[in-house]
Amino acid sequence: MKKDTILAHAGRDPKKYQGMVNTPVFRTSTVLNPDVATYEAPRDEDYQRISYGRHGTPTTRALEEAVARLEGGHRAVALPSGLAAIAAALSAFAKTGTHILVADPVYSPTRNFCERQLRANGVEIEYYDPLVGAGIATLIKPNTRAIFCESPGSLTFEMQDIPAIAQAAHARGVPVLADNTWGTPYFFRSFERGVDVSIHSATKYICGHSDVMMGLIVTDEPYWRTVRRTVADYGFSVSPDDCYLALRGLRTLGVRLKQQMANALEVARSLKSRPEVKRVIYPALEGDAGYAIWKRDFSGAAGLFSFVMNGASEKQAAAFVDALELFGIGSSWGGYESLATIAHAERHRTATKWDPGGPTIRLHIGLEDPADLVADLERGFAAMNRVTK
Ligand SMILES: *Cc1c(COP(=O)(O)O)cnc(C)c1O
Repeated sequence: MKKDTILAHAGRDPKKYQGMVNTPVFRTSTVLNPDVATYEAPRDEDYQRISYGRHGTPTTRALEEAVARLEGGHRAVALPSGLAAIAAALSAFAKTGTHILVADPVYSPTRNFCERQLRANGVEIEYYDPLVGAGIATLIKPNTRAIFCESPGSLTFEMQDIPAIAQAAHARGVPVLADNTWGTPYFFRSFERGVDVSIHSATKYICGHSDVMMGLIVTDEPYWRTVRRTVADYGFSVSPDDCYLALRGLRTLGVRLKQQMANALEVARSLKSRPEVKRVIYPALEGDAGYAIWKRDFSGAAGLFSFVMNGASEKQAAAFVDALELFGIGSSWGGYESLATIAHAERHRTATKWDPGGPTIRLHIGLEDPADLVADLERGFAAMNRVTK
C-alpha cells in the first residue's frame, strides 16, 4: 500500500465498531476480566490485549499502528509530549556509566534533558558535529549505547548523513535514535535509512492543528521491548481524546505536508531575492548545503526553515517579526498557520559554532496563500528598514 492509502485506511476497522468510519474514543482506567486466570495471565507480551488504561486503549493502539505502518517500523507508542518521547527513548539506553553521542544542534530541551537528568545520573554525553557522517566511527567508545540524531538540526537545519552514521553505529552494535519531527513518518522512512528508534513530536504535523501535545516513538523489532518497557516504567499515559485528535490529524497529513512544502518553497525563493537576506537555510531549496542529502533520503520537506538577515541588528530583527500580521510569534510549528521567531542558535551548541553574520529568523509556513505570506514578510522588511541599527 502506498503511504496516502495507509493514511486513509490504517488504524481503523469499521466492522469492529458498527460501521463507524473512525475508531471511537475509548475512555477507561479499569479493564474487567472474565476470570482470575485471565487477570493473572502475563500481559507484557500481549500488545493487543489491553489490561489497564495507563497502557492505552483501542484508540491509542489505532494511532500507534497507523504511525508505525506509515513509517515502516515494528511498533509505536504514544506519549504525552514530544519531549517525553525523547526523554523516554534516551532513558531506555543511557544508563549510569554509559556514553551517548548527541548531534550538536538538537532541539534545546533535548540538550537540557541530557545535561540536567542524564548527566546527573552518571551518563557521559558527547555532542558531535552534525556533518560528521561516517566519521562518527572515531567517536564511538566501548561504552557508547546510543547515537542521537536530529536531521535537519533544530533552528539551523544541518542535514545529517544518517545512513553513513547508522552503518558505523551498527558495525559496533550501537542503536541510532533520531528525532524525526521535521521529516515526519510521511517524508522520511527512518527504518529504511538505518534508524532504530524514531521519535516524533506529534504535536507538530501529525496532530497538525496547534491544539494537542503528543509524542510518538516508533522502533524496529529488536528495540521494541526495551523502549516500550521504559515508557511503561515511567508511567507515561496519553488521553484517548488526544489520540483521536492525532488520528484525525493523521488522515490529512499527506495533503497538508505537500501543500505546506510547496508554500514554503515559494516563500523561501522569494526571500532569497531580498537584499536584507543573507542566506536562506532550507534543505529542500536547490543550492542549500543539505540539499543533496535531503534529495537522496527524504521524499519531501516540512514547511519549517530559517533565514539569516544581512548584518541586521537584534533590534531590527525584532522590528521585522513584530510587524508581521499573518505570522504568529510563538513556540512549536506543524499547525496549519504560519509562525515566526528569532532563533538564537548560538546559545544551544558546544561542539560547533553558529555565527552566521546576522540574526537568524525561523519561519513555519502554514496553509495560507503564499502570496499573502510574501506580502506580510515585505511588510516586515519595510518596518525593519525604518529602524536604525
Ligand atoms: C517541538 C519539538 C520537540 C518537542 O515536542 P513537544 O511535543 O513540544 O514536547 C522535539 N523535537 C523537535 C525537533 C521539536 O521541534
